[in-house]
Amino acid sequence: MKRLLLFSLLVTGFMAFANKTSSEIYVDLEKVHSLKRVLYIAAHPDDENTRALAWFSLDKKAETAYLSLTRGDGGQNLIGDELSEDLGVLRTQELLAARSIDRANQYFSRAVDFGYSKSAEESFDKWGKAEILSDVVLVIRQFKPDVIITRFPPDKRAGHGHHTASALLALEAFEKAADPNYKPGQVAQFGAWKTTSVYWNTSIWWGKDIEEEAKNNPKYLIQDIGGYNPLLGQSYNEIGTHARSQHKCQGFGAIIERGSRLEYFEHMAGKQLENDFFEENKRSWSKLISAKFSEKFNTLLANFDFVSPEKNVPALLEIRKVLAETPASQLDHLKSEKLNLLDQVIINCMGIYMEIIAEDYAFTASEEIKVSYQLTNRSDRNVQLMGQQGLPTVLKLNPNETITQEHIISNQSEYTTPYWLKAPFTTVFDISNPADLGAAESQPTYQESLILIIEGQRIEYTVPVTYKWRDPSYGERRRAVIAAPDYTVNLDQKSIILKPGQEKEVRVKIHAYKENLNTTIKVTAPDGWTVSSPQIKVNSTKKHEETWATVTLKAGENAKRGKLLFEDESGNPLKALTEITYDHIPTQVIFKPAILECVSLNAEIIPGKVAYIKGAGDAVPQAIAQLGFEVEEFEVSDLSAIDLKGYQSVVLGIRIYNVAPELHNFDQKLFDYVAQGGNLIMQYNTASRSAADKKFGPLPFELSRKRVTEEDAAVKFLAPAHQIMTTPNKLNQDDFKDWVQERGLYFAANWDDNYTPLFAWHDKGEEDLKGALIVAQHGKGQFVYTGISFFRELPNGVEGAYRLFANLLSYQP
Ligand SMILES: [Zn+2]
Repeated sequence: MKRLLLFSLLVTGFMAFANKTSSEIYVDLEKVHSLKRVLYIAAHPDDENTRALAWFSLDKKAETAYLSLTRGDGGQNLIGDELSEDLGVLRTQELLAARSIDRANQYFSRAVDFGYSKSAEESFDKWGKAEILSDVVLVIRQFKPDVIITRFPPDKRAGHGHHTASALLALEAFEKAADPNYKPGQVAQFGAWKTTSVYWNTSIWWGKDIEEEAKNNPKYLIQDIGGYNPLLGQSYNEIGTHARSQHKCQGFGAIIERGSRLEYFEHMAGKQLENDFFEENKRSWSKLISAKFSEKFNTLLANFDFVSPEKNVPALLEIRKVLAETPASQLDHLKSEKLNLLDQVIINCMGIYMEIIAEDYAFTASEEIKVSYQLTNRSDRNVQLMGQQGLPTVLKLNPNETITQEHIISNQSEYTTPYWLKAPFTTVFDISNPADLGAAESQPTYQESLILIIEGQRIEYTVPVTYKWRDPSYGERRRAVIAAPDYTVNLDQKSIILKPGQEKEVRVKIHAYKENLNTTIKVTAPDGWTVSSPQIKVNSTKKHEETWATVTLKAGENAKRGKLLFEDESGNPLKALTEITYDHIPTQVIFKPAILECVSLNAEIIPGKVAYIKGAGDAVPQAIAQLGFEVEEFEVSDLSAIDLKGYQSVVLGIRIYNVAPELHNFDQKLFDYVAQGGNLIMQYNTASRSAADKKFGPLPFELSRKRVTEEDAAVKFLAPAHQIMTTPNKLNQDDFKDWVQERGLYFAANWDDNYTPLFAWHDKGEEDLKGALIVAQHGKGQFVYTGISFFRELPNGVEGAYRLFANLLSYQP
């Protein structure tokens, strides 16, 4: 059962094996001993209450898990330019980084985060409720929690439709998981599971009077999660805050709080508990195995030797032997999970270090993969490494002597890529291997089982194959070894926007993953387009050699939107590599088809220079350049030195006041620029709840949390004669077709009478919203605030959004 490797705490996401201190080992052993289990359910990365997870996991010593319905694909990114499925991959790793701190497990359903949703019904319509319900039930049946905790209430109070949906699904799955007639295939594999109760982890956010209301009210369990763990030297709220701060792409870095902190849990379904989440838990080692086993385990915990942890090994091995001989069904199917954790404890008690190192980080299907097994037994106990193919039969691991064994491992023909991104998807990931359902991430592409004989007991341990190198300023660095195609084709842009008759160069980077690559790439242009060189010859000698080619693409008079395709000599589509690299996560790779989106665009501009002041990160400047403007990018701090006079327009990057509030220091400079005839365009910022940060624009308006999430919501033109609607492009209804994900977010509200709103639209069943784009004259110039999602529409080549943006930038005083 590969899934249970999810519980592997020994090999962190960074692929570095790390032995633990005595007290950390003891914390792990307490978890092996504990038979309590909690499943926390919500919708997104960041919804989970990490402090509560840390408390459940480390104070209550419950095996704890967070099931996030989605991977957060539809959100925004504060630290880089990953969006959509790439963002989902980054957020998956941020969740795993958080879980490695709060020591909980992580699961997902197949639901794609398609963006903001105003109701659970809309979410269910898009996902298919039956599929996601089945996923939630599967996780419950596998994980077998005593209690399910939801972050949200099952109604409108949850806000986001995904949030409401997560609570509704938790409640329904609670019933269904216990029903042997629901999904009998799952029942045959994991059994039906009756969870005792469902509680909602409410807070002051949902009810100001919660403290009063919950007091002496049997509906509530109130728990102080602020306790201190002397084994770890931290309190649960400290640990939880460290975990929360891993959600870096969402800007969730948080200040650490210490001391008592109450959490409120409101009863939703199942049994109403009196004092404790686990008071109905009847599992015990005496009942599951025997009183003698239970006693031995208790004795070990009571007499654990912290000074010489290897002295605990005989008792640990005795426990392991009994556990290994007990049938899995007798242990609620927790046998392999407990054995896996126990093996880690044994290995850590002996300070056994194991790694498998490859000479490179990428291998193609035809290459020989030479690896080196390196093991060090840092104890006086008797350990042997069993022989596998290519290894001597048995090797003795003498105390503190590193043994190194060369070995050839077999290739993988399927390229490394997150399992949920292997097939095309829209609102639900298409997962072909049922064993992957629920899993947080793919298994390492290359991993090997090492079989150790520790004082007569056979312990099999899976170690990922890694590549390590020296970074002079950082020290040792590592990454997982991947299976790669012979070469990849990456383009210097995702899309190309050309007017009929126009041509433009596209730079193509070819990265060879094998030596002596001599081949031809076939390039095919879409209908109505011509490409200068339909064939690219590739001749490289070294592995990882990169060569560059240039193709010139021309849009004909009747060019249609389409894709520029890259194929190998046999006509197979070639792959592009996306690599996601940050310090807080292990490097991620995604191989996707090498495609350039070609958009034929009928957009005129009045050319001029544009200054783009960078905000939270977006690909809007590239789009401005595509339109034909000369664009220069600046940091907020550059504003002290730039003379804005020479710029036809100044554009503020998305969420700029959120990430760089010091921009307010330059407000007057920006407003003076407008007064003297400039054109200032402010893209969306999020409205802070405190509303402390209120003043934006030369004339007052406020930021609301209002948005239109339906990308096809009908649009009304409120001022069709305004120059933004007519010059140089006369906008029409066609310009609002084929938008992606949404219309816009954080619309303006309560604006000064001098502003003119240009558009009105609304989601189904709601009132018209007019704050998507407001414009005002100020002195000789113009100021625009817009919540329209240009940062999504432009990189996706949405023609109408380009025409509108061209008009915004073509302002003439
Ligand atoms: Zn959320």
